[in-house]
Amino acid sequence: MILIVDDNQNNLFSLKKLLESKDFQVDTAESGREALGKALKNDYALIILDVQMPEMDGFEVAETLAGYSKTKEIPIIFLSAVNTEKKFITKGYASGGKDYVTKPVDPEILLLKVKTFYNLQEQSIAMKKTQQSLELEVKGRRESQVTMKSQIDHFHLMLESLPQIAFTLNQDGIVDFVNGKWYEYSVSDTLFPETHSDDFDIAEEFARCKKKGKALEMEVRIKNRKSGDFRYHLLRVTPVRDEIGIKNWVGTFTDIDDQKKVEKEKDEFLSIASHELKTPLTSIKAYVQLLDRKLKLEKESAEAGFMVKVHDQIEKLNTLITDLLDVSKIENGKLKINKKPANLENTIKNAIDTILQTHGENTVKIDRHGFIPEILIPFDEIRIEQVLINFLTNAIKYSPQNNQVIVTTFVDEEEQEVKVNVTDFGIGIPDYKQESVFHKFYRVEESSLQFQGMGIGLYICSEIIKQHHGSIGVSSIVDEGSTFYFTLPLN
Ligand code: ADP
Repeated sequence: MILIVDDNQNNLFSLKKLLESKDFQVDTAESGREALGKALKNDYALIILDVQMPEMDGFEVAETLAGYSKTKEIPIIFLSAVNTEKKFITKGYASGGKDYVTKPVDPEILLLKVKTFYNLQEQSIAMKKTQQSLELEVKGRRESQVTMKSQIDHFHLMLESLPQIAFTLNQDGIVDFVNGKWYEYSVSDTLFPETHSDDFDIAEEFARCKKKGKALEMEVRIKNRKSGDFRYHLLRVTPVRDEIGIKNWVGTFTDIDDQKKVEKEKDEFLSIASHELKTPLTSIKAYVQLLDRKLKLEKESAEAGFMVKVHDQIEKLNTLITDLLDVSKIENGKLKINKKPANLENTIKNAIDTILQTHGENTVKIDRHGFIPEILIPFDEIRIEQVLINFLTNAIKYSPQNNQVIVTTFVDEEEQEVKVNVTDFGIGIPDYKQESVFHKFYRVEESSLQFQGMGIGLYICSEIIKQHHGSIGVSSIVDEGSTFYFTLPLN
């Protein structure tokens, strides 16, 4: 808005009309005092000020305006009919005015000047606003930096007070914070502790998980710098995400060495027991086969039926003992995987055939969905068949009301892996127990009384898949069914 100040009402009226005709908003004042009052109250982009006025002349008004921070920046155009002498013009400029127009006013000249000042003032107001908002933003950022720093300090303090080794890695996977415990196992604040030669390399395993954006969890022996002993630790590295993606990683090593020692003693007992059981069982099996041949029993006779039952039970016992032996092999790091390029489709077919033979083709229905292209993948055929047979046996065992099972395969080109799903429509597993079914000797309570088992099949499967650098998992809904899956890298 523009303020016109003139004691002559006719002048005021004609200037107002002139500016309004060019779409300017205009306010008027008839004296210097009224002008000052209005300028302090309202926001003006420009003041057109008559020099000659009674009581307070234009120069006095301009000088007073220059004294207030609110009004000191407002441009002023002086109007005067008489004082065109140089000294008056100089006075006009010195008192804060910006330009000078003589009366009688040439409308075109006045409009040109008004437009220029008006635009300049608008621009300077806009610039000031931008500057203010920039200052606000800088202030806000500075404040949030301070808050963030104090949050990080607080977080580091928390990590420092943990009994575990704790550390963080930045977005690029480089260690950028370690707590005091770290130095009991590592010489440098950026290098992972030294691991046992039989265990996986931490940096390599982490790089693999980082690529997939997934958390890392592994049991690993790391060397204590003081004693030189390797102690078992559970290593967990979890990604911290924000709206954009992974911001950084938080990791801990938890000492599980004592727990591992107790477990080892139990495993040693199991290992000895299963080895000792295996030898007499093998003889029992051989003698029963001999007896079967010698007796030449009638196929339909009751004795022949008993013989079949004896064979079945011996097979069950054999599977149990073999599984127990596998567990002790895993514990001793002796479960060796013999990877060779092979056709996965054949392995799936063999597993399905074995299940159909042992369960009878009429009692179960196994559908095969999806397909695998004719490519060879490096894997251990015997061990992967064992995983498939385990999934299929469970799918049938835990589906007493439904005999349908679906085996589906996908090839994920992006991840460079093949995925095998085994779906059943059985009793399902509650959400919070799904992860535990892959733990050693874990059985879901709800079903453990109704179904026989030892809870080691899936543990062996997960170890086999882990050794193939694949992943294993389950999704399930209680009373609707479960889908167990595993993946294998294509190369
Ligand atoms: P086992 O069957 O001998 O108990 P596993 O290791 O094969 O041992 O399975 C562990 C547990 O997971 C089982 O006890 C059972 O509670 C649950 N489970 C496995 N497969 C299924 C399935 N297909 N449906 C429902 N529960 C299952």
